[in-house]
Amino acid sequence: MVFLKTDDEIELLRKSNLLVAQTLGEIAKVVRPGVTTGELDRIAEEFIRDNGAVPTFKGFPNPYGSPFPASICTSVNEQVVHGIPGNIVLKDGDIVSVDCGTYLNGFCGDSAYTFCVGEVDEEVRRLLRTTKEALYLGIENAVPGKRLGDIGYAIQQYCESNSYGVVREFVGHGIGKEMHEEPQVPNYGRRGYGMTLKKGLCIAIEPMITLGNRQIVMEDDGWSVRTRDRKCAAHFEHTIAVTNGKADILSSFDFIEDVLGDNAI
Ligand code: MG
Ligand code: MG
Repeated sequence: MVFLKTDDEIELLRKSNLLVAQTLGEIAKVVRPGVTTGELDRIAEEFIRDNGAVPTFKGFPNPYGSPFPASICTSVNEQVVHGIPGNIVLKDGDIVSVDCGTYLNGFCGDSAYTFCVGEVDEEVRRLLRTTKEALYLGIENAVPGKRLGDIGYAIQQYCESNSYGVVREFVGHGIGKEMHEEPQVPNYGRRGYGMTLKKGLCIAIEPMITLGNRQIVMEDDGWSVRTRDRKCAAHFEHTIAVTNGKADILSSFDFIEDVLGDNAI
């Protein structure tokens, strides 16, 4: 069942996503060599709760194991998504994908950004840039009359033409009162196929792109997903609403990029 949102509901989604954006901005201030992913998690949880919201990820059920134990996902280097924050110390040259979700006034926010830690190789920075560009190419296709396959095609075509891998096992999703609603939003697809997009459709678009092969494996913790070849992966995510014109991007990277300045990807 796909729930199209009213304008009022979209404004509530915007508030929740704005809080995610601000939380990621707080993370941007502290990502540096020497910080642990657990510290990033504590900063995020405190900021989210201080703003009257709940971190959606904390306690998120896992059909194959224990619920997610933290407020954000921190996926370092070869980790693709769902990395568990903890004692991992970030070091110069690492990348860390931070995925953040909030529940505020009955609606969910969901957005992710891959940060550079100190000086990162140009080969990896290019992966990050391409993934972020692919996200915006996907968003350009999120207009009424286009189909879900057009979003996936745009992302896949751009990333594969740059010789990157497109992860298929994890996908974007509808979002609203629940973090994961229908439809699924794959980062691959065929032009002109899939559900037709309509005003009021709210979705998270989230390309997960690999420097090498697209194959992934699940770590023993039951959550963390990494590349099989242990090459780096990037993850950028926005929550958007389909409107009558260009998509309305409800989350934002502005808070992050204000902090990063010239070092932004
Ligand atoms: Mg997310
Ligand atoms: Mg998501």
